[in-house]
Amino acid sequence: MNKSDQLYLIKLGEIVLKGENRNFFERKLRQNIKKKLSAFSPKFVTQKGRLFLRVSDCQEKVVSTALSTTFGIQGFSPALSVNKSIDEILQAVLKLMSSTPKEKWNTTFKINSRRADKSFPLSSYEICCQAGDAILSAYPGIKVNVHNPDTTISIELRDRAYVYITSEKGPGGLPVGCAGKGLLLLSGGIDSPVAGYRMARRGLRQDAVYFHTYPYTSDEALDKVKELAAAISEYIPEMSLYVVPFTDVQLEINRNSRDEERTLLMRYAMVKIANIIASKTYAKSLITGESLSQVASQTLESLILTDSASDIIIFRPLIGLDKEEIISTAKKIGTYEISILPYEDCCTIFSPEHPMVKPEKEKLTEVYQKIELDALIQEAVEITIRTGIKMDLYKKGVQN
Ligand code: ATP
Ligand code: MG
Repeated sequence: MNKSDQLYLIKLGEIVLKGENRNFFERKLRQNIKKKLSAFSPKFVTQKGRLFLRVSDCQEKVVSTALSTTFGIQGFSPALSVNKSIDEILQAVLKLMSSTPKEKWNTTFKINSRRADKSFPLSSYEICCQAGDAILSAYPGIKVNVHNPDTTISIELRDRAYVYITSEKGPGGLPVGCAGKGLLLLSGGIDSPVAGYRMARRGLRQDAVYFHTYPYTSDEALDKVKELAAAISEYIPEMSLYVVPFTDVQLEINRNSRDEERTLLMRYAMVKIANIIASKTYAKSLITGESLSQVASQTLESLILTDSASDIIIFRPLIGLDKEEIISTAKKIGTYEISILPYEDCCTIFSPEHPMVKPEKEKLTEVYQKIELDALIQEAVEITIRTGIKMDLYKKGVQN
């Protein structure tokens, strides 16, 4: 083993409930971790309910960022792997304790022990007692607290003995890529990045599409969307952002419709274009940040209308959430601060003062069809720009 190698024990989440196709989910998870940490020669060993990862020359915070943003992971910890001898286990326990911050040495601790290998001569209870005694002798200021300890040291007996300190939390969910592919309609607002995150958590791989109405929406608005895409791509590996020049379509809609119809017709056109891009990129679903009754274009009638523009399923994972709940997730995943930057996605000339709340599907569809947008839409798709999203953090040597 290389001196700079570090072992991590990864606890799997919902994957452990899978039956025959569990290998498929585990393989996806390993691939997703590998994509992020490929510069650090990742090696894996899978065991029941656990995945062991070994990396070399990699800072702990880089691994921690990678694993805490990889769906499928319930928790993870740096671990030591030693021979199944009680002496080596006790040494590892003391070594881990000495690596904790000094303040912890005067607080409380607990030992957890699991014996997947039942042939080990000591019972779990005996292992805990011996490890607990070793710590109490080495750290006179520390006390045992089995209910609410400051530090928990776990010992697992498997093919070898694994010793680790309380695990960091993973994001849960299922590995991205195990549930097919979608196209996220990503605006500069608070909702859509959260929608992408939530679908990724159920295993959906995604690209994103942004409709840019330059110069009515600024370059800063586009930069903001790129930043949002970069932030969520931590969770959604290998995401591309498609930027659709939307101005001509939007202006044509404006010229040929009444004020109150505009927002819905614009949404309708967005969904039509998103369908074309989805089919070119093998995405079989769309995702939006819509939430029932949030605004006029998200009433039941409006959603029925926009649904009818799509040949493929539209996922709306925020449909039953209120704004506070959405904001709290946005803060947790680091998109909130970007979303509230001042560059508005919507420009006042495109937002009627009194948008339609209860559109009649047939009537609005008829208005839409009369506008004859086909050629403009085709052109917009042709000049759509695809941007890849770089993940510099995981390059060797740029980890500060
Ligand atoms: P967000 O919903 O992202 O916070 P918002 O609330 O301002 O932004 P709405 O006007 O409510 O956006 O739009 C509803 C949904 O339509 C968005 O969540 C997003 O999925 C999609 N959408 C709106 N504008 C755009 C755009 N310019 N590009 C891509 N998708 C968009
Ligand atoms: Mg919204």
